[in-house]
Amino acid sequence: MPENTIHPDEDTLERYAMGAIRNEAELAPLEEHLLACPYCVARTERMEDYVWSVRSALSQSWIQVIESGG
Ligand SMILES: [Zn+2]
Repeated sequence: MPENTIHPDEDTLERYAMGAIRNEAELAPLEEHLLACPYCVARTERMEDYVWSVRSALSQSWIQVIESGG
């Protein structure tokens, strides 16, 4: 792990996992950090698991709405 490095916070990683960071000025240093920091890659992977579990829960609730006739 690089020394003297500020790790991105949970909120930033969550937005990155959701693909919500489009700003190159924010995205570029974050991706650079992830290349050098397996610790934050693992954190991002946990975020992705979280994002996907939320998405699948949401899509299932939509299916219930559709099946109940709206
Ligand atoms: Zn890090």
